[in-house]
Amino acid sequence: MSYAGSHHKKKQPVDEERDEFEDLLADEGIKSSAGPSYKYVSPGTQQAAPKGGKCYPIFVGGSSLANGQTSSSMAPMSCDKLRCGDCAKRIVRFAEDCRWNTSIVDYLFVRNFNTSPDKLRDGLETAPGFAAYACQCQFISVDGTKKIEEYSHLKWHCAGH
Ligand SMILES: [Zn+2]
Ligand SMILES: [Zn+2]
Repeated sequence: MSYAGSHHKKKQPVDEERDEFEDLLADEGIKSSAGPSYKYVSPGTQQAAPKGGKCYPIFVGGSSLANGQTSSSMAPMSCDKLRCGDCAKRIVRFAEDCRWNTSIVDYLFVRNFNTSPDKLRDGLETAPGFAAYACQCQFISVDGTKKIEEYSHLKWHCAGH
């Protein structure tokens, strides 16, 4: 009885799968003969397209790196339209040779001060060459010029210029 039951159960799904598979093949046949649609990119996805006024690549950097939009890695700028994917806030930058004083600044500090520059400033200390960045959930001090990918814990993206 159990044999008959499982046999019966097994058979139908296999038939269905086969139909789906054939449909799939048919679809693919249509697609590849249509050709040009192959390179289609969904407009909703965040593509790194300089045309849209977004930085690519995205750079952050020390006090000598000017604010602006990067359209080539040969001419890096510190993106001044950064937004955090985690807390949805825009990123505040202090570029006056300063960094976060980590004996004061922690996750709670930046969370409580909610990207308010006046209050965040209290967490800075002088550091030649450095700039300090913060959203409401993350904070970094940067020296030199860095691609945002180097900070793998950050979900900061360019919101467009
Ligand atoms: Zn940007
Ligand atoms: Zn954040």
